[in-house]
Amino acid sequence: MFQYDLVVVGSGPAGRRGAIQAAKLGKKVLVIEQGKRVGGVSVHTGTIPSKTLRETALNLSGWRERGFYGKAYRVKQEISAEDLRRRLLITLDHEVEVLEHQFARNRVQHMRGKASFVDVSTLEVVKDDGEVMRVTATSILLAVGTKPFRPDYIPFDHKSVLDSDELLEIEELPRSMVVIGAGVIGIEYATIFSALDTAVTLIDPKSTMLDFIDKEIVEDFTYQLRDRNMKIMLGTKADKVTKLDDGKVELILDNGRRLVTDMVLFAAGRMGATDTLNLAAAGLEADNRGRLKVNPETFETSVPGIYAAGDVVGFPSLASTSMEQGRIAARVAVGAVAKEPPKYFPYGIYAVPEISTCGLTEEEMKERGIAYECGIARFRETSRGHIMGLDTGLLKLIFSLKTRRLLGVHIVGEGATELVHIGQAVLNLKGTVEYFVENTFNYPTLAEAYKIAGLDAWNRMGDIKSEL
Ligand SMILES: Cc1cc2nc3c(=O)[nH]c(=O)nc-3n(C[C@H](O)[C@H](O)[C@H](O)COP(=O)(O)OP(=O)(O)OC[C@H]3O[C@@H](n4cnc5c(N)ncnc54)[C@H](O)[C@@H]3O)c2cc1C
Repeated sequence: MFQYDLVVVGSGPAGRRGAIQAAKLGKKVLVIEQGKRVGGVSVHTGTIPSKTLRETALNLSGWRERGFYGKAYRVKQEISAEDLRRRLLITLDHEVEVLEHQFARNRVQHMRGKASFVDVSTLEVVKDDGEVMRVTATSILLAVGTKPFRPDYIPFDHKSVLDSDELLEIEELPRSMVVIGAGVIGIEYATIFSALDTAVTLIDPKSTMLDFIDKEIVEDFTYQLRDRNMKIMLGTKADKVTKLDDGKVELILDNGRRLVTDMVLFAAGRMGATDTLNLAAAGLEADNRGRLKVNPETFETSVPGIYAAGDVVGFPSLASTSMEQGRIAARVAVGAVAKEPPKYFPYGIYAVPEISTCGLTEEEMKERGIAYECGIARFRETSRGHIMGLDTGLLKLIFSLKTRRLLGVHIVGEGATELVHIGQAVLNLKGTVEYFVENTFNYPTLAEAYKIAGLDAWNRMGDIKSEL
């Protein structure tokens, strides 16, 4: 039996950040990870692989240069699955090495095995070779993340009907693909494969998509996807999915339509990975999606001394927010002060094109009855946009008419996930429209779009405070 101050289950963003935080505070910390290597979904099947795939696809397809050289432009004519995988493996190796070094530097111990509860402070760890160990801890942080939801009616075969984890192992790029699920993961992969010239159809039973994103941004994004021939079928469900003898897959939709495709990606949801934790032994219970409920300020579960952070606690389910949650949970667990992070954080969707957003949408401003003005800039209005050959890209700022403060920044287009941080800083530091009007921006940059959007709003707001 081994005793620790904090035992963390899972080495994804929440687990590793929590573990390192507690270790930095001088605590004895153990991370238990069932995967072959540390890093979690984020490193091995989620964030990093999908973003590496995206970068490789954009580079090899010459996507960013097509504004200048035309739609037929390619850096590499025949892009293979092997081309995509090569860069992925190098990136993953590097990420794991950095993580292992972080653990070693901070004296975080890690153990490979599957953990489950024996009681509130004891975990059993089953190693790959069958050896069973027990560890006890003053506090436990559950950072077990999620796994893809795999309903029975989908004939997954690891080859042509896949979930998002399996997609990274494909041997050949499909000529056609149906993506079921217009959530963030489905949309990211649908647009990446479409950039690789796969004929993509995206279907979802809901009649809208990305409802948490500003509607004007979603409309611009959808227009761009349709403009490049991606089929988006919303309000439609696949009733039956069947593998055909020739290796293709047939989908019968609830509207009677029949689709035949090379590959189906099922990306409609993920489940909290709590089913094997024996939660009952600790007095815990997960909801019907395997998620755990926590106090949103401390990340403590209903059982004192047991914390949960990251995707297992639900929205927003991002690597970025998971890290912060893990850090806060670990600080509370070891009795250190933990400051709540600012309310507004950036959300990045690495589709092609990118979307990123921070703060309130125009729809939320209306719901809350806040009088507002918007400023819009198109990337093609910036010199940098001309140089880059961009004919798309939009930045939208939303200001309160009463306080003149920036309350929302919404971007679709090249570099959106980087650009958003300027808006995030101004927003969280309570900056007003004057910030954009008065400050000098590097020229030529896409960031100049902030100045253009700021001026656009300012011209309509006038330079005096409204009486509203
Ligand atoms: C395709 C895809 C793309 C994504 N893209 C982005 C993005 O661009 N940006 C972003 O911010 N987020 C992105 N995400 C989300 C991001 O990956 C997750 O938010 C993040 O990984 C969650 O971190 P976590 O620490 O909660 O858990 P995870 O990263 O899921 O790690 C949990 C770990 O716990 C381990 N584990 C589970 N049960 C046990 C057990 N019983 N014993 C031992 N170990 C266990 C698992 O093996 C796993 O390694 C993406 C996700 C996916 C699937």
